[in-house]
Amino acid sequence: MAAYGAGFRVWSVPLLTIAVPLGFVVWAFPHGLAPLRAAGIVTGWLGCGLLLVSLLLMLREPRLANWLGGLERMYRWHHVTGVAAYVFLLLHPLALAAGNWQTSWVLAWHTLSPVEESWPVWSGWLGLLLLMIGLAATFAPSIRYGAWRWLHALLGIGVVIGLVHLILLGIDEPVLPILAIAAAILGWRLLRGDLGLGARPYIVATARKLTARSVEIVLRPLADPVTLSTGQFVLVAFRNGPVYRGCGEFHPFTISSIDGDGALHLAVKALGDCTSRMLSIEPGVAARVIGGFGSFLSEVSGAPQLWIAGGIGVTPFVALLNDGRLRHPARLLYLYRREDDATYLRELRQIAATDPNLTLQTIVTGDELPDIEGLLPDARELSGVECYLCEPPGLVGALKQVLSARGVAAQHIHFENFEFR
Ligand SMILES: Cc1cc2nc3c(=O)[nH]c(=O)nc-3n(C[C@H](O)[C@H](O)[C@H](O)COP(=O)(O)OP(=O)(O)OC[C@H]3O[C@@H](n4cnc5c(N)ncnc54)[C@H](O)[C@@H]3O)c2cc1C
Repeated sequence: MAAYGAGFRVWSVPLLTIAVPLGFVVWAFPHGLAPLRAAGIVTGWLGCGLLLVSLLLMLREPRLANWLGGLERMYRWHHVTGVAAYVFLLLHPLALAAGNWQTSWVLAWHTLSPVEESWPVWSGWLGLLLLMIGLAATFAPSIRYGAWRWLHALLGIGVVIGLVHLILLGIDEPVLPILAIAAAILGWRLLRGDLGLGARPYIVATARKLTARSVEIVLRPLADPVTLSTGQFVLVAFRNGPVYRGCGEFHPFTISSIDGDGALHLAVKALGDCTSRMLSIEPGVAARVIGGFGSFLSEVSGAPQLWIAGGIGVTPFVALLNDGRLRHPARLLYLYRREDDATYLRELRQIAATDPNLTLQTIVTGDELPDIEGLLPDARELSGVECYLCEPPGLVGALKQVLSARGVAAQHIHFENFEFR
């Protein structure tokens, strides 16, 4: 996969986020209108532009993800642009109503009231309502993932209805191409990301229990293998086998090592419904693979490193170690609930015993959150160290806070959240 400059990857998404909405405003600027009415129209176009960027950022295409700094980064900006779009779209009718208020309050009320209006306005409100439900679901971590996905999909329907609202208002000339682009992005995501059109065919060659709740699955390619670099992850969906019943959905898993023939090793920890079923996966089960994604460990520098892994978040580090001996000192803090629950612990101890560059520190946390303050090295020890974190999002957030309080600059803290929402 082509490597793009770090600068390009850092700036690509912010530039897109600014350029697309501003481009819309310049293209459709309402000259000669009263300021509030013009503001109402401009906020509508800013919202449309941000929504389009937000849609683009949910595509699961390896090449696009490489250009835009990785899937995890795209997801973060997908949320930011989605929320910003919603705010502008909410301001849009309010500014229009405020503009009409100067003529008469009845006209202002008519602009806002869905009761007294017609299809064009109802469709606008319906679009906003669906966006609101979808966004509320995004920020409700307690909702089950399956339900969350359905509620989140309302955002896509809200976008289409919002654009239909513009067409019903008679603004079809600039809107039709935008509607076509939005529909193309949504269709692309559905066909390629969710239904897996274009995913590469693999087959389960072996499945070996690592712990009571984790399994190592080796996937052999049946055609050209996916292109990967160390520590990247892929999206994998398994088909049903003679006994195994899969969920059919694509789930992200990190590749812990790659064989010469392109076979992929992944460690799966049973954390929910689909991954629990994978514990009993059998050789011969067909799999579909999309990837590779992630740039978390792709630019490991020569500086001393601190790696912090929570549970199954250890897999990217195992991948790096499997790739060859370390050329720089690295200290791995490996946090897990119980010893018999810790994936690849035996392998890591063996590597640490023979490789002087690796220092392994294991921390048994039980079911409690660990004492992060006490766990991390002090500011003096952290000076000049690159930090790499991989664990559930709550823990990543807490670790980042303590590291920055101890003087580690943001550009020296690299992380991967093992969760996509
Ligand atoms: C970049 C990345 C790398 C990962 N690498 C590994 C790994 O090497 N080994 C491993 O065991 N786990 C890994 N995970 C976590 C793994 O993907 C989830 O544990 C798994 O998808 C849970 O699915 P479930 O249906 O069993 O659980 P659920 O109870 O349905 O979900 C638990 C959580 O997993 C996430 N999740 C569920 N389904 C999906 C999906 N289809 N796509 C994205 N996220 C989903 C959601 O955040 C959800 O809240 C990784 C996750 C990410 C984001």
